[in-house]
Amino acid sequence: MGGTFDPVHYGHLVTAEAARAEYNLQQVIFVPTGRPPHKEKIEISNAEDRLLMTTLATLTNPYFDVSRADIDRPGLTYTIDTIEDLRRVYGPDATLYFITGADALLEILTWKDAARLVDMCQFIAASRPGYSLSLLEKALGRFFTEKRQAFHLLEVPALAISSTDIRERVRSGRPIQYLLPETVAYYIIKNRLYTRRSA
Ligand code: NAP
Repeated sequence: MGGTFDPVHYGHLVTAEAARAEYNLQQVIFVPTGRPPHKEKIEISNAEDRLLMTTLATLTNPYFDVSRADIDRPGLTYTIDTIEDLRRVYGPDATLYFITGADALLEILTWKDAARLVDMCQFIAASRPGYSLSLLEKALGRFFTEKRQAFHLLEVPALAISSTDIRERVRSGRPIQYLLPETVAYYIIKNRLYTRRSA
């Protein structure tokens, strides 16, 4: 499961658990991005903070794990490298699913080695209800129709929660309780994330 996780919230956790149940996954590995190429001009929190928050959030679920793969790899973070790293760890016979937000996948044609990437894993596009795969079809055109088997849609009502909204809430002193695990909320407060320049 790839994402910036700045911060991780219940939308992500519900998505991971729903994907696990729906696709009978043995494990969901959260992979916080290192340096996302499309966010070079956007301030994101320190990688270690995002990794620690993700670790705190996933601690109690025995099927969840967290990987430092993207954070430790030098240079910009490309999903093709993430999948290659995971393939090396789990071997040629493992079926890999890359779970992420459906909106992020709308841009997949701009990702490094997109065609090869789509041949290397399946994609689970997480969205709130009402989203349709036709949006992906519209954005990706023939690429999508040809690789249709690789894309799955997962509707998650809890994705009404968003990291952007949580950051804005912290900045403006509004409550974040019940949007994310308490431990993550404490981590944000204790480390003064989103109220100071933290990148
Ligand atoms: P983003 O553009 O920040 O997010 C787009 C939307 O998807 C947001 O609404 C976001 O909500 C949601 N989202 C992101 N991750 C999610 C997840 N795991 N589960 C459910 N919703 C999710 O996306 P991003 O976080 O930067 O990138 C997502 C993944 O795509 C990362 O693993 C990244 O490395 C990969 N990616 C790869 C390339 C490339 O290879 N060139 C380029 C772009 C992205 P929240 O903000 O609430 O999470």
